[in-house]
Amino acid sequence: MQRIGVLTSGGDSPGMNAAIRAVVRKAIYHGREIIGIKHGFAGFIEADMSPMNLGSVADIIHRGGTILHTARSEEFTTPEGRAKAYENVRRFGLQGLVIIGGDGSFRGGLQFYREYNIPVVCVPGTIDNDIPGTDYSIGFDTAVNNVVDAINKIRDTATSHERTFIIEVMGRRSGYIALAAGLAGGAETIMIPEHPTSIDEICRKLNRGYRRGKLHSIIIVAEGAASGLEVGAKIKEKTGFDTKVTILGHLQRGGTPTAYDRILASRMGAKAVEMLINGEKCKMVGIVSGEIVSVDLETVTAGKKELDMDMYHLAGILSI
Ligand code: ATP
Repeated sequence: MQRIGVLTSGGDSPGMNAAIRAVVRKAIYHGREIIGIKHGFAGFIEADMSPMNLGSVADIIHRGGTILHTARSEEFTTPEGRAKAYENVRRFGLQGLVIIGGDGSFRGGLQFYREYNIPVVCVPGTIDNDIPGTDYSIGFDTAVNNVVDAINKIRDTATSHERTFIIEVMGRRSGYIALAAGLAGGAETIMIPEHPTSIDEICRKLNRGYRRGKLHSIIIVAEGAASGLEVGAKIKEKTGFDTKVTILGHLQRGGTPTAYDRILASRMGAKAVEMLINGEKCKMVGIVSGEIVSVDLETVTAGKKELDMDMYHLAGILSI
């Protein structure tokens, strides 16, 4: 394993740069060459690739996004598209591939490994934290902190104006960001796709709180559970309370990665290179109970990450 390619794919997540830096520097530390592939699988197909050195990753550890850029590529989902990418594997002499991205990117990597037998190690980089086989994915911690910052600010105005605030957060089909940010931000209600909550139930809780003298409430809605705007309109209709809706959107994905995400990305990126050098072929790097581990990629792509329901119930108890 002399020459390794690295790409970022799918949605960007804060900490991807720290992962790229770790991949490049760990590979060079072991005397290997590293080729950076731009724009994910799209650049892989188009040969948008070039050698990286120690300087290519200088001054990026604190930057959000990804210096390699990312993209979604319809063409890579076709055998013809992947054949073009394989041509570039040969042309650039790649003997292994590190893919930093989400579950879709991993399915692409698995398919490519099956067809062309090129060793692939995936690194979970998505704010959604929806990848099985790992407790955390790179970017999740930063996204949660971004949401908590927003909750803190909204709480100031909520207390002053005696209003009900609805905050819609990202996560696609997963409620992890909503749950973690809701618990950390002290939200009264958290709506997640894994445990549907009816509007009537939320209104009953709001009314109970109002009778006890509670004058403001914060409701976190995961985008996969409901639309924040619809939830706000229905609550207003049923309770008459003044409701305001904030959709945080891409604010959650931006900004400098937290120390936790930088450390996680550094450990995972370095481990990915180590795994390729040690002859591992179709794997993902994960973190389980604080340990960096190697997980079978087939198991990851076939599985579904379960939400921590104990944490969800705890958030309910603490927000009474
Ligand atoms: P995020 O979680 O941030 O959305 P992701 O990696 O899940 O990231 P996707 O758009 O689902 O993002 O996937 C990224 C790319 O992976 C796709 O644009 C496509 O090129 C490739 N891909 C996804 N699924 C497959 C598949 N089954 N076979 C081949 N390639 C795939």
